[in-house]
Amino acid sequence: MPALLIKGDEVANKVRSEISAELKDLYEKTDRVPGLAVVIVGEHPASLSFVINKEKQSKKLGFYSEIHRLSAEASHEDILTVIQQLNGDDNIHGIMVQLPLPEKINEKAILDAIDPDKDVEGVHPINMGKLFSDEKGFLPCTAYSIMQMIEFPRQPVFGKSAVLISRSNIVGKPLSLLLLRRNASVTVCHSQTKDLADICREADILVTAAGKPELVKGDWVKPGAMVIDVGMTQVGDKLVGDVVFEEAKEIAGWISPVPGGVGPITITTLMKNTLEAFKKKLEI
Ligand code: NAD
Repeated sequence: MPALLIKGDEVANKVRSEISAELKDLYEKTDRVPGLAVVIVGEHPASLSFVINKEKQSKKLGFYSEIHRLSAEASHEDILTVIQQLNGDDNIHGIMVQLPLPEKINEKAILDAIDPDKDVEGVHPINMGKLFSDEKGFLPCTAYSIMQMIEFPRQPVFGKSAVLISRSNIVGKPLSLLLLRRNASVTVCHSQTKDLADICREADILVTAAGKPELVKGDWVKPGAMVIDVGMTQVGDKLVGDVVFEEAKEIAGWISPVPGGVGPITITTLMKNTLEAFKKKLEI
């Protein structure tokens, strides 16, 4: 029997309706809404369309939202000034900086300047540290979104063997910690891992974010396993995942498609984190 699909839209819809219900309740109690600010530098068309989409979605959910557009010539100090102003703005609870920033800008220094209590992308070292030490902080959006996909079919994660093809700061490292919190046994693989196919064959949960089109063949998948494909590579006019979907879907128990997998959830996760930041500010 072919695998059941874990569709990003379905997961995102569930999270959005939870956010809406909570927001309505908080608005009735406080007469206030969460605010999200997005900072974009330069005119990169794909980045601009991501930012506009984020604003559209946040307004649709009832958030206050603003976009700060700076020219590609903006200096490091110009961007820092905007971040500092947003850090001090009581109507803004979450700040996200659209990446990539122009090459001359020190990206890490800009991200580190965001108030950790407004770091709704979960990329500030303080929030990374909290994740590492099991304290409450903002979880990195992509890893948190993947975790929501894994938990969507309500299958136990406890005691499962999870294999991650990624050791990146936004996927493999944070996701390994989130899975450990759920008592999975985690193996983190990367470009230098030997016998990758054999390791994957042992996985009850296989997550890949290598960005290598069709790296994972059908015979790498354990029968009945959950396969989450985070990889997205533009090949000609198509977006291609890391998994040979047509082969893997015949063997896996659950599988996420590309496109239509984790992508739609990440914006919703950003809203979820912004709502958490708002609640923290209200001390609710
Ligand atoms: P990255 O380059 O930082 O990390 C890639 C990881 O894959 C590294 O740990 C590397 O060691 C590993 N890797 C590469 N080739 C490999 C191979 N042949 N075998 C085993 N491991 C290998 O990339 P990233 O920023 O984490 O993104 C990875 C992919 O995930 C990209 O396709 C990106 O588009 C996608 N992505 C999607 C979303 C989303 O929202 N859908 C978000 C983030 C990243």
